[in-house]
Amino acid sequence: MLKSNPCAHGFKQRTVVAGRPVETSKRIDRYFELARNIAQNSPYGKIRHGAILAKGGSILNTSFNKDKFNSFGSRFRDADRGYATVHAELGCILGMPRSATTGADIYVCRINRDGEFRYSKPCGMCHEALKHVGVKRVYYTTNEGIVEMYKL
Ligand SMILES: [Zn+2]
Repeated sequence: MLKSNPCAHGFKQRTVVAGRPVETSKRIDRYFELARNIAQNSPYGKIRHGAILAKGGSILNTSFNKDKFNSFGSRFRDADRGYATVHAELGCILGMPRSATTGADIYVCRINRDGEFRYSKPCGMCHEALKHVGVKRVYYTTNEGIVEMYKL
């Protein structure tokens, strides 16, 4: 199913995989609380994202979205989409060895000005970049306060 969704900075890009709601575990809830805290650092006001890269119960990296050009991301971005910045998902995989990212899961949230979770399905650029480095599953927050997941 094709679906248009907003990612950081209000870009709309198509992602090609539909997520489905999942029941969260204590560990997943903890990752999203951490992602919420990380997102507070973002300079983007109401589109602050936070992401956690984890594998085998260990957190490998964390990131929030940054206003900084990113050439790695540009490789996965449609030319007409403009400037590729460091989305939270990209920040998590940049500089990580392939042995770490392969088989890892990523947890992505967006928070509004009140710190409440909002829809945060990765954009097309992040989707392709995550797939490229072997990330296995993507968990993300929704406007309804639930978590959805899809496999890459
Ligand atoms: Zn993105």
